[in-house]
Amino acid sequence: MPTAVIDGHAHLHDFDDPEPVVRKALESGVARIVSVGMDAASNRRSITLADRFPSVVLPAVGYHPWSVRAEQVEETLAEIRRLLPRCVALGEVGLDYRVKVKKELQRQVFRRVLESAAQLDKPVIVHSRFSHQRCLSMVREAGVRRAVFHWYSGPLDVLEEILAAGYYVSATPALAMHTKHRPAMERAPLDRILVETDAPVAYQGRPAEPAHVWITLKALAALKDLSLEETARRTTRNAEIFFGLRPRDEASSCDCP
Ligand SMILES: [Zn+2]
Repeated sequence: MPTAVIDGHAHLHDFDDPEPVVRKALESGVARIVSVGMDAASNRRSITLADRFPSVVLPAVGYHPWSVRAEQVEETLAEIRRLLPRCVALGEVGLDYRVKVKKELQRQVFRRVLESAAQLDKPVIVHSRFSHQRCLSMVREAGVRRAVFHWYSGPLDVLEEILAAGYYVSATPALAMHTKHRPAMERAPLDRILVETDAPVAYQGRPAEPAHVWITLKALAALKDLSLEETARRTTRNAEIFFGLRPRDEASSCDCP
């Protein structure tokens, strides 16, 4: 039986009607979708969607560096702390040194959400655009045990440090289209790679949805010179370990992490 795979990172909150998207994912063999949050509104939506699609949509809450606004920080952080215990991960969080939000404020927010994740031993989904080294240091300093550097296309020396620290990187459909994402995925061993879509991000003009995690998987299989089935099975196992999920074939009606 083909593996029921996991989309490890999708912005389901961005879909006006996520129902057909979830249905298409299930039909294509994507059994579980980690729904990330960016701010207070999308975090709430992540939780609502998990309630609506139990054991299919797995909620995460976060505070994306693009969404940080000084006047909302305290309120948003308090809500993340309240919602995080019922989530499979903290995310999307991190730093982005190409956005207008002040770096110092980004770091303050990131440090505080990392503390919350470390206290609850939750895995962390990290956005590290133009800030890979700094994100890694901060994740490490916070004592976070599990972290994935999402859509990693950064320097290979930082990748080596990420891997040495026991952390993961994730691949997106960009692997099938852009050369920039490839060197890191070539270098990282398959047992440290998670697959995702970052839906509804558009790749070559086409907005992604969770069913497109198969595009990521096919590209990764080709890159690693493995069968699609083996790549699917092994990266699904990685996601189960990373997010603390029960394997699907052992799961009964409940798939609580
Ligand atoms: Zn994202």
